[in-house]
Amino acid sequence: MTIEVRDLTKVYGKTLAVDHLSFEVRPGMVTGFLGPNGAGKSTTMRMILGLDRPTSGRSLIDGKPYHDLHDPLTRVGSLLDANWVHPNRSARAHLRWMARSNGLPTSRVDEVLELVGLHDVAGKSAGQYSLGMKQRLGLAGALLGDPGVLLFDEPVNGLDPEGILWIRTLMRNLAAQGRTVLVSSHLLSEMALTADHLVVIGRGRLIADAPTAEFISAATRSTVRVRSPRITELVPLLQAQLAATVEPVDGAPDAATVSGAAIDRIGEAAAAAGIALHELSPQNGSLEQAFIELTAGSAEFASHPGPSGTAPSAGQGPSVPGRAAQWSPDGSTLAPDGSAVAPPTPDAYQPAAARHTAPEGN
Ligand code: ADP
Repeated sequence: MTIEVRDLTKVYGKTLAVDHLSFEVRPGMVTGFLGPNGAGKSTTMRMILGLDRPTSGRSLIDGKPYHDLHDPLTRVGSLLDANWVHPNRSARAHLRWMARSNGLPTSRVDEVLELVGLHDVAGKSAGQYSLGMKQRLGLAGALLGDPGVLLFDEPVNGLDPEGILWIRTLMRNLAAQGRTVLVSSHLLSEMALTADHLVVIGRGRLIADAPTAEFISAATRSTVRVRSPRITELVPLLQAQLAATVEPVDGAPDAATVSGAAIDRIGEAAAAAGIALHELSPQNGSLEQAFIELTAGSAEFASHPGPSGTAPSAGQGPSVPGRAAQWSPDGSTLAPDGSAVAPPTPDAYQPAAARHTAPEGN
């Protein structure tokens, strides 16, 4: 069973929470739904589950809108908010109520309590549970109908390392059983360990849709730091001769960070032009840093429609110029339909280059 999100848009008042988002979630793997806080992950999940009505577009599970699924709990399980449980009700009573109201056998309740490790405390009222125990109870509820599709919204939030490892293992096992697992997170480092595939969004728009390994190797691609007393001459040279992307280094006006060119070629190009280098050093970016840069400025986004009614694209703003296009095999876009990711405009490179050419003392 697949989840299909097709051109989904959600506007709350002046806030464009989800902006023409399209992607597919396939069975047999964990798909990480990644984006900074406020990117639109929960809103998208709520629309997939029929809890929020899209402004436009639609989402389908196994080819149907959620509301058209028969016995939905046996098809789709979800954990959106672990606190959604009556505090005076015990875990067992909560799950029995869920089972009865959905026509599921109550014998399944003890099975899922065992599965999530709550069997011994199942008689305690949920109000006494820690966040980790509530997450486990939420997972038990999601698994109650033995569904083929599972959606989890930030399930590791607030958990201790043992709980995180446990959830990670559970997700991987569920996917290995052939289920379709969509799990959201704002942490790339967490998703790197859990997900086989990543759907990355910022400001409600698709930034990347790629296998995790491919995304990470692109995100952590190394850059080269150069320093030169003639940096203002070196930068345009590297851009023109090597088609490199060059960005200034904050607080170091004689330095630049170069990507898209091998370190040897940079040194050779400088030598050929007779430009002295005071530094030529490889930099290995951290995964989380790369993700923060990639989605920079996309944490919260209020819609300000332009004259054409279109919102700013994910490729604009202070995010890393050119990054959005890098994840794709053909270098243009990663959206499966070839339309959802705006390629960076040449203008996106301008501020960095312009700052290098500004008169000294600025
Ligand atoms: P994420 O799950 O990625 O953190 P959300 O989907 O919760 O992001 O939020 C996306 C945007 O929509 C945010 O700007 C958020 O403030 C806004 N938003 C979410 N739900 C509502 C709502 N019910 N009413 C108004 N704005 C909302």
